[in-house]
Amino acid sequence: MDPILEMLIALESLDAQLDDFESEDYLKSISIGQNTDENAVTKQIGKLRELRQEIVNSLPVAVYKRYEKLRGKYKRGVAPVINGICSNCFMEFPSALVSRPVKNKSLETCPNCGIYVYWTK
Ligand SMILES: [Zn+2]
Repeated sequence: MDPILEMLIALESLDAQLDDFESEDYLKSISIGQNTDENAVTKQIGKLRELRQEIVNSLPVAVYKRYEKLRGKYKRGVAPVINGICSNCFMEFPSALVSRPVKNKSLETCPNCGIYVYWTK
């Protein structure tokens, strides 16, 4: 897989985890819950942020900027193509693109919504 694509997927998963941690519902649930160690959560968030920064530092600036822009618009910057369909905008990819034997070897975007895509089956 393209190394930048790989980093984007990792970044996306970190951001999703951070969103969960920082969501109001989650913060409410830990203030009500008795068994959750708030410190552990703070630590975990710090760790995720550190990891995130490492990835951001390794990404080409233009790619990261576009990722952030996409996240502002769609709440995500990368989306899988599933059965030839963009999972962000549900556009069907041209069959010539779908049937290529080599995928995920370069950074691609959805021709319709512009999100970075990676191919599952
Ligand atoms: Zn799309």
